Amino acid sequence: MAERITGHTELIGLMAYPIRHSSSPAMHNEAFAYLGLDYAYLAFEVDNSTLEDAVKGLRALKLVGSNVSMPNKTVVHKYLDELSPAAEMCGAVNTIVNDNGKLIGHITDGTGFMQALKDNDIDVIGKKMTIAGAGGAATAIEIQAALDGVKEMSIFNIKDKFWDNAVNTVEKINTNTNCRATLYDLNDLDALKKEIADSYMFTNATGVGMKPLEGKAVIPDTSFLRPDLIVTDTVYSPAETELLRMAKEVGCKRMNGFGMMLFQGAAAFKLWTGKEMPIAHMKEVLG
Ligand code: NAD
Repeated sequence: MAERITGHTELIGLMAYPIRHSSSPAMHNEAFAYLGLDYAYLAFEVDNSTLEDAVKGLRALKLVGSNVSMPNKTVVHKYLDELSPAAEMCGAVNTIVNDNGKLIGHITDGTGFMQALKDNDIDVIGKKMTIAGAGGAATAIEIQAALDGVKEMSIFNIKDKFWDNAVNTVEKINTNTNCRATLYDLNDLDALKKEIADSYMFTNATGVGMKPLEGKAVIPDTSFLRPDLIVTDTVYSPAETELLRMAKEVGCKRMNGFGMMLFQGAAAFKLWTGKEMPIAHMKEVLG
């Protein structure tokens, strides 16, 4: 560490709460060390009550940038100078870039997911997808998939506090992109079965499948799946959710949330350093 950190080392942060479980510090610091880049990445416990001061600190200390996670993603834009078009459309920021004192907010979750699909030879462009979720991860994926050219999107969510967000997302997609989006209640299992049946891909972007909902899935049984359906999950811990276990049983091609995590990080890494993250090495170390 004495050799690694010098008076020249530049700092990149992560502002969220809780955050000690995050794999982002290990990922970015490993990539900096591997490429010999003089940066350090540290996680800071910051919630909405300390976020404004933390961003002021970021400016004052001239950090290169920061990641932002829950509960700050939809709040931090208030303290920034500019937003990328995708961050503006999602109403969320996961990456701050300090461009000579101007703080620019980006969202890399959606591009991370789309890049992970490419990395797995899954091509949803021009096709129909069905997706469950209306929170941060789901919104970023839905907006980016629509911007990238998915033709039709059926979005399902339960009628909880995220429902209004889903209504909003569908309206934004239908107004601003060529994708046709429709919203359904996730409890309408007939509609869910019907929409999955003529989709190329089904994605779970809810918290169902990870703690405290580990062992659960947004579909009740394997009759909702077929062997040529692609099934993806944003959850990466556990690596195999109940949904992906069912998909394996049916013989579907599957992708968990690891690639999304890796490629959202790689996109942020490129924004801060101008360099490509060493993906093959990172897969070896983290995968
Ligand atoms: P969020 O809190 O913003 O959204 C939660 C979503 O889950 C909402 O759509 C909500 O309606 C739904 N939900 C919650 N309880 C439910 C239930 N009992 N039944 C059905 N739906 C339910 O969370 P988020 O940040 O969008 O995260 C969602 C998932 O995506 C999490 O599993 C998270 O781990 C994962 N995620 C992965 C990455 C990645 O890089 N792979 C990044 C962000 C989030």
